[in-house]
Amino acid sequence: MVQLSIKEVEARLGEVKCAICKSNRFGIDSRSVTKGDGEWKAICRDCFYIFPVHTDMEFYLQTQPDVPYRLKEIACQFCQHRGVSLDFRAVLSVREAVYFVTCAACQLKFPEQSYLESFE
Ligand SMILES: [Zn+2]
Ligand SMILES: [Zn+2]
Repeated sequence: MVQLSIKEVEARLGEVKCAICKSNRFGIDSRSVTKGDGEWKAICRDCFYIFPVHTDMEFYLQTQPDVPYRLKEIACQFCQHRGVSLDFRAVLSVREAVYFVTCAACQLKFPEQSYLESFE
């Protein structure tokens, strides 16, 4: 499991939009990182909306047995290879979760909307 840095997570969050104000400038609350449980807090720099970023993907994949199958189906936007690894997950709103993944073939990193989580 790759150790994520705050800078890397902040940079990659810039690929998605704030659920409230549609900005894409986010910061990570460093206090949530030092707690060490893998549950980070991201804050929109424009409207101060806070949402959770889950970085303990080992635990997540253990508790969500369907997710590894889904990850094998995700196609890379660059090389079209199917199969990615999950780096972290952001829950932008009650209706929107995003997987931040890395292509197993070309190592491109990109965000993928998660349709897995049921919001009913
Ligand atoms: Zn915002
Ligand atoms: Zn690729």
